[in-house]
Amino acid sequence: MSEKQASFYASVERNFDKAAALTDHPKGLLEQIKVCNAIYQMNFPVKIGNSYQVIEAFRVQHSHHRLPTKGGIRFSHLVNKEEVMALASLMTYKCALVDVPFGGAKGGVSVSPRKYTEEQLEKITRRYTVELVRKGFIGPGIDVPAPDYGTGSREMAWILDTYQQLKNGELDSAACVTGKPVNQNGIRGRTEATGRGVFYGLKEMLSNEADCKAWGLKPGIEGKTMVIQGLGNVGSYTGTISIDEGDVKVIAVSEIEGTIVDENGIDIHKLIKYRKDKKSILGFPGTKTLPKRDNWVGIKCDILVPAALESQIHKGNAKKVKAKIIAEAANGPVTAEAEEILLKKGVVVVPDMYLNAGGVTVSYFEWLKNLSHVRYGRIEKRFDERAYTNLVGLVEKMTGKVVSNKEKEFLTRGADEVDLVRSGLEETMITAYNQIREVYRRKRKAKDLRTAAFINAINKVASDYMTLGIFP
Ligand code: GLU
Repeated sequence: MSEKQASFYASVERNFDKAAALTDHPKGLLEQIKVCNAIYQMNFPVKIGNSYQVIEAFRVQHSHHRLPTKGGIRFSHLVNKEEVMALASLMTYKCALVDVPFGGAKGGVSVSPRKYTEEQLEKITRRYTVELVRKGFIGPGIDVPAPDYGTGSREMAWILDTYQQLKNGELDSAACVTGKPVNQNGIRGRTEATGRGVFYGLKEMLSNEADCKAWGLKPGIEGKTMVIQGLGNVGSYTGTISIDEGDVKVIAVSEIEGTIVDENGIDIHKLIKYRKDKKSILGFPGTKTLPKRDNWVGIKCDILVPAALESQIHKGNAKKVKAKIIAEAANGPVTAEAEEILLKKGVVVVPDMYLNAGGVTVSYFEWLKNLSHVRYGRIEKRFDERAYTNLVGLVEKMTGKVVSNKEKEFLTRGADEVDLVRSGLEETMITAYNQIREVYRRKRKAKDLRTAAFINAINKVASDYMTLGIFP
């Protein structure tokens, strides 16, 4: 394990301690909130080609104060116990912050997906699921995995199928995992959810004129320049949605192969297609490539979005940052040491546990959908449409004016599943931001948004423990 990864867990603990010191909760309670409740480390064999490979994997349930526990499964050769512990801890605070009624968890399988065929990945995923079932580490009311770095809806479908084979007839089995393909009990809007949540979060924080003034920023997301590190699921949707719905200008993108810049704005839709064909972002028309990949850190912009892995902005490069806002779309991209440097420079860091909570929020909607066994909008859509049509008809009759077909279409539409998911996500991101802001405004307590978010999350988890009667 490298030092960088070991420090990720230490970073999360340090941030927790900083916030915990500003609360009045008993020491024992804070300690209980901080520790990981259950850690399952496993090694299992998988036949790859003609030989067997021993795969190391983990599932960490950080907090059982609410059940099920919830969090993604990461496939990466960098996976190690401390990393999964850090990520599981963040899930607890994230869920508490956005009022998703789950404890936090995370899984990790120490494999580099690019080195395996689809068939081999399926074998690994299914075997990992069997291990989880055997130890009672998965189930709709126990622990519910989801996608994370290196996994997606395909892996979730394999997990679901393996679970259902072992739990024949379990009525709510579809809720054992989220982020599934839509035709496999998934939900519309889940794939884009984290990126969309990042956009809603930034939009909300930039909508407050007084806050923006205090930060030396022009209010409003429109026209802001953005740099994105990582064009995976989160980075891609953050980019496309920010451009399409927020009029943001993405001036640079960084990926494993390098960093490209175009001050006039990069069309992320086209770039995603380009990368799919060419297997690289380099050479995208109109852009120039920077000498070093790491140069993304020092690009002057309004919003810098690290959307890949943890510890990307560390004490070694934090001084180079020329962005006004760091939007933590990834989990833990800024180390605790780096954040101190950034805060002194006046950079606003929007914390991961808030900003990337869109994924788990929509996972929660998917879980609810699975438990209710009905698609959102199915019951009321037509009824609403008829009621709106009657209303518009009445207005026309009373005013003697005709509403145009285009307007009529807009006014009388009943909500589809994706409309409701987006609406629920936007509401969640707005409410959570304003709760963080409430704490942050009382400067005496939290001097930065992360500490404010942590205080909020700690208070909520603490209140659950009190209600449970464990810490009266
Ligand atoms: N892996 C995502 C996260 O870090 C989503 C977790 C989930 O949907 O359970 O928040």
